[in-house]
Amino acid sequence: MKVRVLGCSGGINQEVATTSYMVDDDILIDAGTGVCELSLDEMRGLKHIFITHSHLDHIASIPLLADTLFDDLIGSPLVVHALPETIKALRNHIFNWVIWPDFTELPHKTNAVLKLEPMKAGTVFEFFGRRIEMISVNHAVPGVGYCVESDGRVFAFSGDTTSNENFWASLNKRDSLDLLFVESAYADKDIEMAKKAFHYCPQLLARDLLKLKHKTKVCISHLKPRSEEKIIEQCKAAMPDQDIHQLKSGDIFQL
Ligand SMILES: [Zn+2]
Ligand SMILES: [Zn+2]
Repeated sequence: MKVRVLGCSGGINQEVATTSYMVDDDILIDAGTGVCELSLDEMRGLKHIFITHSHLDHIASIPLLADTLFDDLIGSPLVVHALPETIKALRNHIFNWVIWPDFTELPHKTNAVLKLEPMKAGTVFEFFGRRIEMISVNHAVPGVGYCVESDGRVFAFSGDTTSNENFWASLNKRDSLDLLFVESAYADKDIEMAKKAFHYCPQLLARDLLKLKHKTKVCISHLKPRSEEKIIEQCKAAMPDQDIHQLKSGDIFQL
């Protein structure tokens, strides 16, 4: 399995983009502004998008993908998988004919180019040998992470979350974990803000990582652009026994 980082930042500028990871050539986990890294041909290869939650930095490119790929998607729609609450938010606030046309009815209801598929936390979607499990986490809106298994190799992503039990317990049920992306949006000085916004900061993350039984490569995502260095420095100091890395746009992992 190949995991390509299109965007993994908590903000945007000329060098960074928001969350989107490509699994092999046909699956996206989140569709933030990182999707703009893809060529039109690469976009045409996309079949399924798994969304962690309704926040804009994770969904921004869905409406534009539906429009850009319109002709290619007739007869083989792009399928967006997410919690029922997230699907409802997309319908009510994005595909409402005001912010954007409802591509789940275009060109016709019966052969629409976009399909919004509710998925239950704890369930697994299988697509050509990749098994994608949705795992609920603890964010300001209903949120999930994902664990993807292919050929016995396992990759997990926390989505946006603060302290929680379920993500770690779910990973511990597995025999192995080869790669972990986990967020730490804030530095420790902003711990109160992190708690309020339901994100991790290094010390909150360090407490939770103690729950994980697997030793694996840990890549930190969702850093606020101005605090990147500080957050990574604090993560390394708070978790000296972990293999900590800063996740960057353009990173490719071959598992
Ligand atoms: Zn969020
Ligand atoms: Zn976010």
